[in-house]
Amino acid sequence: MIVETLIVGPFQENCYVVGDEESGTGALIDPGDEAARIVFAVERMGLSISQIIITHAHIDHVGAIAPLTDEFLCPVVMHEEAGAMLRTMPQQAMMMGMRFGKVPKVDRHVADDEVLEVGSLRLRSLYTPGHAPGHLAFYAEEQEIIFSGDALFAGSVGRTDLPGGSMEVLMRSISERLLTLPDATRVLSGHGPETTIGRERMTNPFLGGGGML
Ligand SMILES: [Zn+2]
Repeated sequence: MIVETLIVGPFQENCYVVGDEESGTGALIDPGDEAARIVFAVERMGLSISQIIITHAHIDHVGAIAPLTDEFLCPVVMHEEAGAMLRTMPQQAMMMGMRFGKVPKVDRHVADDEVLEVGSLRLRSLYTPGHAPGHLAFYAEEQEIIFSGDALFAGSVGRTDLPGGSMEVLMRSISERLLTLPDATRVLSGHGPETTIGRERMTNPFLGGGGML
């Protein structure tokens, strides 16, 4: 499995380009900004992008969808509960002193526990709300990788003070859906460095782990 991380935009968001070496089929997870740079990376990697996968509809995760669908002519997949937030993106951007162009069209709604196929790769959706409505993480079981969006970070968890956020719901999502994965699972988050489920279980101060080592 090919995985390349591009850190994009003012919020330093991790956009992931994933690909199946055999078929050359790829997908983009959370293209938040810098569409031209993402296109350049995809061309360099020689992938044919089959879909754009969204963990949740915060501006730093969705900002480059519209120009990229124009470029790759591929469907956008997201949880239905994230739709309301996506539709108000121009107003959200304005409040932050930013500009947001066209609201992207979502072609397929993904619910909990569905499998997205990227060539021979399989990404299973894990419904993990709490940080944002309809938040999904995506689990590549065979490769032992979880794309955790903004639910779980190295040493931290997602903020819950934005609309639709709930610390109680987030903690339940993390403990029931993410910490139940094998310890060796690599965690690729929406921001910041890579970690593993085992390391977060042991050391993440928000998860009742050991904290200071
Ligand atoms: Zn977010």
